Amino acid sequence: MNKQGIYLDYAATTPVSEAVFKEMQPYFGDVFANPSALHTMGQEAQAALDNARHEIADILGADWREIIFTASATESINLAIRGVVKDAKRSLENPHIVTTSIEHSAVLETCRDLEKEGVEVSYIPVDGDGLVNPDDVAKAIKDTTVLASVMYVNNEIGTIQPIKQISDLINSYNENSDVKKVVFHTDAVQATNYLDINPHDLGVDLMTISGHKIYGPKGTAILFKSRDVSLAPATTGGGQERGYRSGTENIPAIVGFAKALKDAQSFKNSESERLTALRDKFIKDVLSGAKGAGLNGSAEKRIANNASFCFENFPSEVMVPALDAKGVYVSSGSACAARVPEPSHVINAIGKEDCALNTIRCTLGRETTEEDLKKATEAIIEISNQA
Ligand code: PLP
Repeated sequence: MNKQGIYLDYAATTPVSEAVFKEMQPYFGDVFANPSALHTMGQEAQAALDNARHEIADILGADWREIIFTASATESINLAIRGVVKDAKRSLENPHIVTTSIEHSAVLETCRDLEKEGVEVSYIPVDGDGLVNPDDVAKAIKDTTVLASVMYVNNEIGTIQPIKQISDLINSYNENSDVKKVVFHTDAVQATNYLDINPHDLGVDLMTISGHKIYGPKGTAILFKSRDVSLAPATTGGGQERGYRSGTENIPAIVGFAKALKDAQSFKNSESERLTALRDKFIKDVLSGAKGAGLNGSAEKRIANNASFCFENFPSEVMVPALDAKGVYVSSGSACAARVPEPSHVINAIGKEDCALNTIRCTLGRETTEEDLKKATEAIIEISNQA
């Protein structure tokens, strides 16, 4: 990785690790055949695909039949939400979805799109810390509810949602109910590097993970789909991925994803500990030194690598390029919205409307050092004090 600057945007994307890159290389050339082909070369590619699927299933504590490869987390989320709704529509005219107001746009825009087709959606608000109350999710469930989708970790402010408590409530509702089962999906994209992601322990039926947030390649992701969930395919074609996601599998990316997930899980505890310590000092130093700085989101229920700051009367549109000029690369709000200076829906949802255009997100990763954060802190303090 280019270490000339200080990259603090790991929530937007991570570099492909050397170990992952090495693992992928043979599948661009030597083992390139189509895994659906019946000849020996095809079968070699098929073996790599099977192997990656089994490895991922083992890491998640899942069955290999519960892993669906897709080309992005966005696609995985679309398959989860649209797949459940389409399946439910066979017997229900206006299915209902429960989600939160701080989801990634992949969830929110999919829900909004489905609303145009008569699907009803409840967007559960969060508190000032950015946390969802599990009871609010449970209370929103009604006879027509087919899906709840709650993100594990928020991509902008790093808050960790009480997924297990929510799944306990949903699962007890499902046990006591003779109406259609409520399927529970979680977007675990920002959780994978630092938290437990066993879907059975979490009590979720569907779970999304993205390759490029875990030092794997871009354009690859999975949807975990519990075997008792019924899903309509989002794409049709050659019937790959057990018919849920047709299209020739991207073998190098899938092999890279499996290696990245394996490494992410083995570094999980040590990286969480290391980054939490670095991050807490960084937050303390920025808050004490920078003019008008505040922290967005819960200080405690927060993923190890996230520091999201609001600067009173100092637009991120000015702060981000000023930091860039000093070689410090951060993001304003979420990655996907970063080129559009629109107020952050997440910051609005936590009731900090004044901060919705004045927030920078600094996210740490494997290459982040204490020295990097010292320099970044000095740069932030210098710029903010010019205001
Ligand atoms: N969900 C969350 C929480 C994210 O942070 C992102 C990426 O920013 C996505 C979904 C979309 O991931 P992908 O880029 O793989 O489509």
